[in-house]
Amino acid sequence: MADLLDLSARIIDSGLVDQPVNRVTNELSEIADGVAMVESFSHCVALQTGDGLVCFDASGVQTGQQVRDALRGWSADRVSHLVYTHGHADHVGGSTFFRDDAPTVVGHQAVATRLDRYAYTNNWNLLINMRQFGGIRGDMNLNVGDTGGGVDVKANPNARRFLPATTMRPDHVVGDHDTIDVGGLQMELHHARGETDDHLWGWLPQHNALTTGDFLIWNFPNAGNPQKVQRFPIEWAAALRAMIAKEPELLLPAHGLPIAGRERITRVLDDVASALENLVAEVIAMMNAGATLDTIVHTVKVPADTLAKPYLRPLYDEPEFVVRGVWRQFGGWWDGAASRLKPSPDAHLAAAIAALAGGADVLLHRAEQAMSDNDQRLACHLADLAGWAAPDDPAIHEGRAAIYLERRKSESSLMSKGIFAAAARESQAVVDRYGPATNG
Ligand SMILES: [Zn+2]
Repeated sequence: MADLLDLSARIIDSGLVDQPVNRVTNELSEIADGVAMVESFSHCVALQTGDGLVCFDASGVQTGQQVRDALRGWSADRVSHLVYTHGHADHVGGSTFFRDDAPTVVGHQAVATRLDRYAYTNNWNLLINMRQFGGIRGDMNLNVGDTGGGVDVKANPNARRFLPATTMRPDHVVGDHDTIDVGGLQMELHHARGETDDHLWGWLPQHNALTTGDFLIWNFPNAGNPQKVQRFPIEWAAALRAMIAKEPELLLPAHGLPIAGRERITRVLDDVASALENLVAEVIAMMNAGATLDTIVHTVKVPADTLAKPYLRPLYDEPEFVVRGVWRQFGGWWDGAASRLKPSPDAHLAAAIAALAGGADVLLHRAEQAMSDNDQRLACHLADLAGWAAPDDPAIHEGRAAIYLERRKSESSLMSKGIFAAAARESQAVVDRYGPATNG
């Protein structure tokens, strides 16, 4: 049993991360008297009551069985209440393995809408998670990172469902807030938008404890995911402020380490809230001043010392994507460049530019030059143009794949790494189809 509070105190107080903070061990640690956490993809936070266990989140479908087994090693009690902090697959998919307990499932009223949406857009969700979590080969091994897990397609090719059909739906539905007593344990549940529109965070007055769900993920907030639906960074920050006002002594997150001590918890929540508030304020100020998205994306930055904090590193999402998310939340999808309102097809534009340049190979060569000049953003534009202009040319696509693999290496966030790896696979497929490039 790891002393997680000790570990988090040392890491937060020193600012040094000398070991992983987002661990998927599927092991249970007792955090306080009657309070335990199974570290998984997402965690399960369990509380003993006079009437069985209350669990916050069920983890995902791949880890749910191990999580339920770990709970059994701690308590023989049945799970009487399963509370969803939100409806992401890695928080609810494991409920399949809680069915025998016949728990009351508690969740925000928007969880059901989310589960319906996952069914409606099943393959889309499989595809985007393949990109986000697929790594360099595109495997669906999801034991990394954070939210939005799905089925293990590689291990079980028939399991083409983003969420198992056996996922339990909430039967105790919460609107704005609710207070529930389970066997003498009092829980306040508060709705707030943040990473999702269906989030609940909990306050347990007898433990002076918060259950934060994904409002704290020990990474820069997942508030700008490029492939997923709208996130709500300013509401996220407001929820963190409401949590601070509870004067918590214990914080139990769904990802990362639990935290003890009011001053330490306040500092962490305030740092995350401030990072989001400052970013949103800068974007909105520029939008109000009439700036284009292009100007805003290349102007608004989060200070390096903020991003260096152990719980704000951009290893999952990143600030640039949150900037775009704010634009989308308060504006529309159009970025302010007139030609991109109703653009030419990418291939048509690329063919014209390649003809001007003297061929797709000239564009690719210039892209490779930009890579060696360390202008990777420019290099990727030119590599895309070359690829679009020569969709069947293995030599061009071999070069494009190499550029994206190189780009992937220098990115910090899982989301960028995933998308750039997918671009390399796209070009590698052309090489595989049309044979390796011949020299000369
Ligand atoms: Zn999560």
